[in-house]
Amino acid sequence: MARIIVDGRYCKGCGLCVEVCPRNCIVLDPDTINDKGYHPAMLTDESLCTGCASCALICPDVAITVER
Ligand code: SF4
Ligand code: SF4
Repeated sequence: MARIIVDGRYCKGCGLCVEVCPRNCIVLDPDTINDKGYHPAMLTDESLCTGCASCALICPDVAITVER
């Protein structure tokens, strides 16, 4: 089982991780706004995440940590 941890403080809501995730299991959380005024990314379903780390690699703000 893998999952990602998004540090919402650093997320700028660019959506690159959402686009790159091959399992389509990341969204921008519509219910949360961080201190910068962005909706941070969040994992929707841990059971879908493979831990491939594509999201973490593409994130320009290094806001994603992958746990495997
Ligand atoms: S590690 Fe891979 S499967 Fe998991 S959320 Fe990131 S891009 Fe998607
Ligand atoms: S790529 Fe990084 S900064 Fe962009 S939405 Fe995803 S977590 Fe946020």
